[in-house]
Amino acid sequence: MKRVLLAKFNHEVGSFNPQRTYYDDFTIHRGADLLDATRSSNSTLAGNIEILEARPDIELVPTYGAWCNTTGGLVAGPDMERLIGELLAAVEAHAPVDAVCLSLHGAMAGETEIDPEGRVASGIRQIVGDVPIVAAMDLHAVISQRLVDAADALVFLHTYPHTDMRDTGQRAARLLLRQLDGEVKPTTARVSIPLLARGDELITASGRFGEAIRRCQEIEASIGGLAAGVIIGNPFTDVPDLQSNAIVTTDDDPAQAQELALELARFMWENRPYWIPKLTPLEQAVRLAEETEGLTVFSDAADSTASGASGDSNAILKGLLQYNYSKRALIPIVDAPAVEAAYRTGVGGQFTWPLGGTLDSERFAPMELPLYVKSLSDGAFTTEFGYVVPPSRTAILTSGNLTLLVTQEAAPIVGRKVYQSQGHDPADYDLVVCKSPNGFRTHYQAIAARIVAVDVPGSTSANLKTLPYQHCVRPIFPLDDGVVPPFAEAG
Ligand SMILES: [Zn+2]
Repeated sequence: MKRVLLAKFNHEVGSFNPQRTYYDDFTIHRGADLLDATRSSNSTLAGNIEILEARPDIELVPTYGAWCNTTGGLVAGPDMERLIGELLAAVEAHAPVDAVCLSLHGAMAGETEIDPEGRVASGIRQIVGDVPIVAAMDLHAVISQRLVDAADALVFLHTYPHTDMRDTGQRAARLLLRQLDGEVKPTTARVSIPLLARGDELITASGRFGEAIRRCQEIEASIGGLAAGVIIGNPFTDVPDLQSNAIVTTDDDPAQAQELALELARFMWENRPYWIPKLTPLEQAVRLAEETEGLTVFSDAADSTASGASGDSNAILKGLLQYNYSKRALIPIVDAPAVEAAYRTGVGGQFTWPLGGTLDSERFAPMELPLYVKSLSDGAFTTEFGYVVPPSRTAILTSGNLTLLVTQEAAPIVGRKVYQSQGHDPADYDLVVCKSPNGFRTHYQAIAARIVAVDVPGSTSANLKTLPYQHCVRPIFPLDDGVVPPFAEAG
């Protein structure tokens, strides 16, 4: 039997979110428990498990998994040390092994550790020695050279909005097995691209970015092409490695890997005007929603709890009131004190409360609203992709034509289940707000009459020039003018 070690370490951080992420915010599973917790989800680890379990000569060695159900701010220093320490101790306790299959997001960062995934991968390499290590990763990963060096191959998502998590885990596990069987010898080239990307053109099914990804898929389908990805980073994880990358792994052909990575990098660079989003001013967005027949979906990407923001923005709420929106709207907001007040008041009661700005108080000033307590719950639900979101007190409050989903903690406001779990189907409303830049489209495309990316403030605004970058690669497009990457000069 060959022993393949499994571990998962996932979080996506928004550096401009003033809140911190703590150890207790992570869901942690150890040993066989890790398999049971993920097997039925659409996750890279589930894909790993499916492929590896199908091989009778492979023994799965599940060790440690730590992940958050939402994104968040930088991980506090001691908490990051504890997580990495526990993960590496679990790996050490199960060594020696014959191979390692890792499940990483890639956009984690801490107050003191700026490259957690690189440290984890290199730490595992030190423990396990010269055995195959393959990691499945998000295409919003931030890539360090330490990470590239520690792994034999990195296998990336090929969809945005993301739907191919399980598939990516399968691709990673298949590649790992080929290397373990001695069929292939992976060699990886990385070309960095000094650009940050946002906007609808990144939608792989319909946007220009899809052309780059289809080229990656062609490379992976070719003889000798083992893995290919274009990794745009999470633009809100402000660390020194933040930029975009093209990464290609071939079977023992470094020149070919380099040439293909360069081709992908040049494509991204030459198409850079496409990666600047078109955002709609709030007043115009409200007018569009007012005149639309059927459901309008507002994307509040600036306060996206799927990209690292705090979720306590009341900017759209204020706009709906200011511009006299008259139809039925469903709006999420993180506001723990308001939830407490709702619990004190009880279902059927009324109270007035300054809503919003409890977490990102520099960006959002609270707004007093009369509120009616429609329902209270523990807020637990399972997402469309099978992720179990643990309990966190939740209130449905109404104010005139507005229905508010008020949560104690940030929740993923991407799909419809978060609302349906509280008895409110977005399909029954005229307007729904999602705290997601594009991921929501998977769940709303079929029922939305109109989708509007609203230009409002927030720590994950697609209007990148509004954000206080301090650490990312500079110069970088679109923050700086006159950027010329080395490969563009050469070409
Ligand atoms: Zn992503």
